[in-house]
Amino acid sequence: MVKPLIVQKFGGTSVGSIESIQKVAKHIIQAKEAGCHVVVVVSAMAGETNRLQSLADDIDAVPNARELDVLLSAGEQVSMALVAMMLNKLGYSASSLTGGQANIVTNDQYNNASILDIRVERIVNLLSHNHIVIVAGFQGVNKLGDITTLGRGGSDTSAVALAGALNAQECQIYTDVDGVYTSDPRIVHRAQKLAVVDFPSMKVMAQKGAKVLHLPSVCYAHEHKIPLRVLSTFQPGSGTLIKGDKSYQNVTGLAIQKTLTLVTLAPEFCDSVLKQCQLLGVEVWNVIREAEWAGVVIKQESCAKLMLVFSEKIRNTKAVSLLTMVGLQASHFVDAAFDCLSNVNIEICYTFTTVQALMLLLAPCDIEKAANVLHDAFVVFSDSKAQQSIFD
Ligand code: ADP
Ligand code: ASP
Ligand code: MG
Repeated sequence: MVKPLIVQKFGGTSVGSIESIQKVAKHIIQAKEAGCHVVVVVSAMAGETNRLQSLADDIDAVPNARELDVLLSAGEQVSMALVAMMLNKLGYSASSLTGGQANIVTNDQYNNASILDIRVERIVNLLSHNHIVIVAGFQGVNKLGDITTLGRGGSDTSAVALAGALNAQECQIYTDVDGVYTSDPRIVHRAQKLAVVDFPSMKVMAQKGAKVLHLPSVCYAHEHKIPLRVLSTFQPGSGTLIKGDKSYQNVTGLAIQKTLTLVTLAPEFCDSVLKQCQLLGVEVWNVIREAEWAGVVIKQESCAKLMLVFSEKIRNTKAVSLLTMVGLQASHFVDAAFDCLSNVNIEICYTFTTVQALMLLLAPCDIEKAANVLHDAFVVFSDSKAQQSIFD
């Protein structure tokens, strides 16, 4: 009988020290001893990618995109070797591979590449020789063989894509929390762990700032029906399974994105700014079109890029945060959210709705309090008066 294969991905905190890498090795060995082939994907050690990015920023506000990828991909190369060495030391055959060595082929979009293809022969060959294979996450190579990276948080996507290419039984994302919560448990005190989250809700959560999973990893797992589980490296438990197409919650959770910039401009420049964003690979979070002004919400770190080519057309830039209520009924809660927040003297700068989400643009100083207040009103007490009143 063919051995089952699992992919295990370990994030930055999980490989953040030699002590943590010992814990990582335990999970890998457990799966191996249970009779599985194991392919492991690792992130850079905690803080390392930020350190590398800030070295580049010290040279240039908009560093050369190709060279930035050469630099940023180095962090994962350190972790993969350390994990392989640890497994060797514990008596297991293990080989580490960079994205290029693992034949992960991407498009040419430096800093935010998409995986096009993974030629798995080399990995399969190593597995057949009883090796545990450790692959550097977050990176691939384009058709020229140049290093590309998949966007911040992209190791999750490396893991899911490898799980798909290798027909894995499950893709396990090991991290520093024990599953997906109704909101970021580091910010929202009464966030609750979810045993299962449906794919559409998880996509909106990831898209709107819940960095526990990289958005393309959720999309890919959904599209290719890859069982995806989030669980903790440091605590026992079965974590959260991402599964199914339908949400049964009015509000599944709250996603928080703290560091955004609202760029305001004259309405007639809005279309050209949007075009520039597309050309520069700047992700647009929201667009506001009013008679007197227009606004484009982008990540704070993308602002320098946009200013470089568009500064004379920009009226103002302002730091903002976005709180997104996720769920099929979320968009019905605009008035209730206004009431809840005005009771605690928090002003909403702007609201946006979609079929599955209510987004609130807030001042960064208010985001944590607002998240806790709205979570308690709409998520924890799901039969609360605030929700009931909508359906009366
Ligand atoms: P890793 O380095 O393992 O990839 P990340 O820092 O990228 O880990 O993602 C894990 C973090 O995501 C958690 O520490 C938590 O603060 C944050 N997070 C945000 N939203 C959620 C959520 N809804 N559920 C769980 N964690 C969340
Ligand atoms: N090391 C990369 C980052 O910090 C990729 C990842 O961790 O998934 O964004
Ligand atoms: Mg991550």
